[in-house]
Amino acid sequence: MSKILALNLKMNFDYNDVKKYVSSLNGQFKGDNVIFFPPTIFLPYFISRDYPIGAQTISEYDNGAHTGELSCTQLKSIGGSYVIIGHSERRQDQKETDEQINLKVKKALANNLKVILCVGETKEEREMLKTTKVLRKEIMGDLKDINSDALQDVIVAYEPIWAIGTGAIPLSKDIKDAANFIVDTAINLYNFKPLVLYGGSVNEKNIGELIKIDEISGFLVGGASLDINKILKMKEVVEK
Ligand code: PEP
Repeated sequence: MSKILALNLKMNFDYNDVKKYVSSLNGQFKGDNVIFFPPTIFLPYFISRDYPIGAQTISEYDNGAHTGELSCTQLKSIGGSYVIIGHSERRQDQKETDEQINLKVKKALANNLKVILCVGETKEEREMLKTTKVLRKEIMGDLKDINSDALQDVIVAYEPIWAIGTGAIPLSKDIKDAANFIVDTAINLYNFKPLVLYGGSVNEKNIGELIKIDEISGFLVGGASLDINKILKMKEVVEK
């Protein structure tokens, strides 16, 4: 089975860039395993029957007076099927808490969206040997009070914060250990065995090595997702 390539475009591109980017996707990305997460304003330009799309975050509310937010029903109404929740940039910039992330996960699952939940430690936490403590706390808080049937639509992305956008990558053994820890923790706490993605400085050059980690079911990619040629090379590797 092909591994997953989840492409987080973050807050990049203007309208002209998006037109060029989307026109070069044509015909090259048929299938379910490459998922595009454009900026909210550009989601409609990515609508396609050829590949799934999703949002980079979602509101924990249904609708109404929540200025600037995107609801699950709005996302679904334009054909979105995925959402990234708990990305470290939102945990840091928007001060999203595990309680809020838990509400977002619940709302997304209630609306039949697939969730990519991001978890991972900072550099300081890693140096203080707190990686597993952080992963456990996040999994426990973010997936609280959700039945194990609903949890089947959650994929967990292990994203060490110190590896995001820095070019630094953990040792394969550390990624493998983190993935095993995430799966064991989710089984013990919530009777749920998630697929685990790795994210943090993945690109067309290092993906050939990372794909050898059997515990990983794919990748969440930021920077390298802005270049179609890099995506095509990564796609080739995940589909081998
Ligand atoms: C991310 O932000 O989820 C990410 C993995 O970014 P990058 O690939 O740029 O490190």
